[in-house]
Amino acid sequence: MPLPTLKSKLPMLRTSAVRMLEAKAGATPMERGSAWMAKRQRVAERFGWRCAACGLALMPGRMSDGRSFWQCDHIVSREQGGSNDESNLQPLCTTPCHEAKTAQEAAARLARGSYDSKPNPGTAHE
Ligand SMILES: [Zn+2]
Repeated sequence: MPLPTLKSKLPMLRTSAVRMLEAKAGATPMERGSAWMAKRQRVAERFGWRCAACGLALMPGRMSDGRSFWQCDHIVSREQGGSNDESNLQPLCTTPCHEAKTAQEAAARLARGSYDSKPNPGTAHE
């Protein structure tokens, strides 16, 4: 149950830094390292090395800004309690497909944070 005092402070706290904290609270931890890399490969193989959104072939290597060309996306995002299980993973081109999904998730997060929305039992930040 959100406290009225907390509610009244929310507009001031609405910065990107706070959104990051909110997003991370209760989220499934990010997996890294060689086990994750191997899983990433298996997910890509399962999708025939094609983006799950646009169907274009996944490219190896990295873009000029250092990001890899494709990302292993959590179908149900980690902040929504999505698991690191392969059944919850799909390959997406980093741009525009993964960026679009990330933007959608950010918009949904903002919508959930709006004053009129009902408290979401799935979020742990309250
Ligand atoms: Zn794509």
